[in-house]
Amino acid sequence: MHRRPTPASWLLTVALLLWLPPAVITPALAQDEEDLVEAETIAEDEEVTDIEASQPRQDDPAAVSTPDSAAEANPAPDPARPEQNATAPTAGDETPVAGAAKVVAPNIDLKDVAPVPEAPVAEPEAAGTTADTLPTATPTVTGGASPAPASPPVATSLTLLNAEVLPGTATRLVWAPGIQIAGLSQPTPVLVVNGVNPGPTLCLTGAIHGDELNGIEIVRRTVYDLDPEELSGRVIGVPIVNLQGFQRGSRYLPDRRDLNRHFPGTPTGSLADRIAYSLFTQVIKHCDLLVDIHTGSLRRTNLPQLRADMNVPSVADLTRGFDRMAVVHSTGAEGMLRTAAVAVGITAVTLEAGESLRIQEHQIEAGVHSINSLMEKQGMISRMFVWGDPEPVYYNSYWIRSEHGGILFSDIELGDRVNKGQILGYVADPITNAQHPIRAINDGRVIGMAVDQVVMAGFAAYHVGARAATPEETSSDDSPEDQ
Ligand SMILES: [Zn+2]
Repeated sequence: MHRRPTPASWLLTVALLLWLPPAVITPALAQDEEDLVEAETIAEDEEVTDIEASQPRQDDPAAVSTPDSAAEANPAPDPARPEQNATAPTAGDETPVAGAAKVVAPNIDLKDVAPVPEAPVAEPEAAGTTADTLPTATPTVTGGASPAPASPPVATSLTLLNAEVLPGTATRLVWAPGIQIAGLSQPTPVLVVNGVNPGPTLCLTGAIHGDELNGIEIVRRTVYDLDPEELSGRVIGVPIVNLQGFQRGSRYLPDRRDLNRHFPGTPTGSLADRIAYSLFTQVIKHCDLLVDIHTGSLRRTNLPQLRADMNVPSVADLTRGFDRMAVVHSTGAEGMLRTAAVAVGITAVTLEAGESLRIQEHQIEAGVHSINSLMEKQGMISRMFVWGDPEPVYYNSYWIRSEHGGILFSDIELGDRVNKGQILGYVADPITNAQHPIRAINDGRVIGMAVDQVVMAGFAAYHVGARAATPEETSSDDSPEDQ
C-alpha cells in the first residue's frame, strides 16, 4: 500500500533524510524511509515503538537536566578556545532559566552529511517542559545579540533552546512547542551557526505554511553553505516551522488555523497561539534580522520578492541588501511573524518565492543568492564571487481579479512586463465557449499570478507591480496575501 511519491516530494524526502533528525520524519513521508531508519538510530521519541524501546533514557528526567549530562556533553569546557572565556559575562543577558540544563551544543561539520544528532542534544523534553517558563526568562535578548561598535569585537556564545552554541561552531538543536501529548511531541530542527566573529543574528524561517516547500530548501542551502570560521554573527535556520502542516501537505495547523496570523502568540490561547508564542519567545527573540520565507498560496506563484513594511526605516534599509529582488511594500497583517517581529524591534521581511507544494530550482536559487547578498551586505560573510550591486526594485502593486468563472489560461509569464490594457489571459467558459479576457489595469511587471486552473468570479489572478521611485506609501492589499 505504498503511495507513489511525486518527483518533487521524493526529492524533498531525500533532501530531508540527509539532514533531518530521523525522529521528525513522519508516517506521511516516511513509509519508505522506515526501512532506512532503524529504530535504534532514533535518538528522539516519535514513534510508539521507539518510546517503548528507549524507555531507560526517556524515563529518567535527570538524564536530561542534571549538570552531569552537561558535563558529559562538554567534558573539557575550555580547550584552545579563548572566545569561550568571553562568554561568561555576555551570556548573562540571555538569562538562562535557573536550573535548566544548558549543555554546550556539539559542533557539527556542516560539510558532513546528516550525522544523527548526538545524545547531548536529546533535550526536546527539556525544551518542551520549559516552554512555559523560558519566555519570562528571556525578555530582551535582541539588544544583546550584537556587541556595541566601540567595544573590542569578540564573538560570544549563543544560548538557545537550552544549549550553548560556542563561537566558531555549528550545530543542530530542536524546538518543541510543547503542545502535544508528552512523549509524542515532534521536535523541530533548528540549525545554528555561530560565527567566530561578532555580528548580527540572522534568522531564516521556512514552511510556517506547511505546504510551502521552496523555503525549506532555501534555508538548507544557505545554512549548510556557511563556515562558522568565516562567519561574523549568527545564523539561525528553522527550515520547517509548521511541522504538522508540512507532514500533511497543508498550509494550516491541525486545527485549520493559519499559524502566520497568530504571532507573537500567547501561552494560554489556541493551539496556533501557543505554537506561535513558543517559537517567538524561544527562537525569534534571539534574532536581530529575520527573513521569513513563503510562497504563493492557492495555486498562485510569486516572482522572488520581498514583502516589507517600508515605513519602518530599519526594514527599508534591510531591503537594500537583497540583490536582484523585487520589493513590495506591505505593512502586513496582524499576527504575521514579520509584523510581530518588527513590533519588538527585530528587522524583519517576508521573502516570497514560487508556489506551494513544489520545489522550484530557479526560485530557490534566487532566494539563496539574495540571502547571501544580504549577509555580505551585513558584513557577515565575505565571498570571493562577485555580486552585482544589491539592486532591489520597489513596487506598488495591485491584484487583478477574474470577472467570470471558468478555466483560466494565461498569455503571459511570471516576471513579464505588461502594458495597460494588455491581455494577460483568458477565462474560458467551458459550457458557453465564451472567452473572457483579463487585461492589465496599468503598466507594470507580473510579480505574482495564478497558474492555469478553474476559477470563479472574483479570483485574484494577476499581481502586477508598478515601479515605485522610493520606498513609501501603502500598496499591497490583504486579498491573496500569501504570507
Ligand atoms: Zn506562506
